Amino acid sequence: MKTIGILTSGGDAPGMNAAIRAVVRTGIYYGLKVKGIMRGYAGLVEDEVIDLNLSSVGDILQKGGTILRTARCEEFKKKEVRKKAYETLQKHGIEGLVIIGGDGSFRGAQLLSEEWNVNTIGIPGTIDNDIPCTDYTIGFDTACNTVIDAINKIRDTATSHERANIIEVMGRNAGYIALYAGLAGGAEMIILPEVEWSIDELCDKITYGIKRGKLHHIIVLAEGVMSAPELAKMIKERLPKLDLRYTILGHIQRGGAPTVMDRVLASQMGARAVELLLENKTKRIISIRNNQIVDDDIDEALSMKKEFNRKLYELSKILSI
Ligand code: ATP
Repeated sequence: MKTIGILTSGGDAPGMNAAIRAVVRTGIYYGLKVKGIMRGYAGLVEDEVIDLNLSSVGDILQKGGTILRTARCEEFKKKEVRKKAYETLQKHGIEGLVIIGGDGSFRGAQLLSEEWNVNTIGIPGTIDNDIPCTDYTIGFDTACNTVIDAINKIRDTATSHERANIIEVMGRNAGYIALYAGLAGGAEMIILPEVEWSIDELCDKITYGIKRGKLHHIIVLAEGVMSAPELAKMIKERLPKLDLRYTILGHIQRGGAPTVMDRVLASQMGARAVELLLENKTKRIISIRNNQIVDDDIDEALSMKKEFNRKLYELSKILSI
């Protein structure tokens, strides 16, 4: 193998740049040429390919976002469009392709491998941590740190005014950001899609908290359950006198300098991706499980189920009593 390519696809996540840097530098270390494909699969179809060298990835380790940009390309679900992608790879002599993204991006990689025999390696990059094969995805830790920074600030003002606050966090259909940031931020209630909850229980907890002298009530709400204004309306119907505000953190969670955890994870995964290509492995997804960097066949990885950490949730309830 002489030339490899790299692209970022789907939603961006802090730490993607650290992974790109690791792929490029490890590739060059082993004597490979590395090409960057701009804007994910869209750029692969439209032949947006650039050469990457040691300095192209200088000074990006600490930056959020992705220097290769990212895009969603619905067209890539069509076989004739994937053929164009294959032609781009052929034209540039790219023999192995590293894809940093989520499960949708891995489905694209799976098809490229099956239909055109492209050597593909996937690296999980998404703040949502909703990829079953891996304990953690690149970007998740940074997003959680952004959320707890926000919780700390909201808690200051909530305490001064003796208010309740709903903080809506991202995560799509998963509650990992809500769970980890809620626990780490000391939220009184965490509402997430994986666990049943009731509005009466929530309101009883707020009432109990007021009686026992609590000065604030932080409710962390995962976007996959409902929106913050919807939940606020439900609470106000039951507790009309409660001073209640809500904050939707939104895209602030997708940016910022990656944390140590994300930089280390991205560096390890990026380097491993190159090693796997050099070992002639293909159609693999890299994961971290039990603190070990491992890899699985894409088919197997995509069919895995992630156990929800119910113990962590129960702990958050005990600690916020
Ligand atoms: P995130 O979790 O951040 O949203 P993702 O990789 O899951 O990342 P998607 O929008 O689902 O994001 O997928 C990214 C791209 O991967 C799509 O725009 C499309 O180009 C490609 N893709 C997704 N699903 C498929 C599929 N079934 N077949 C072929 N390509 C796909």
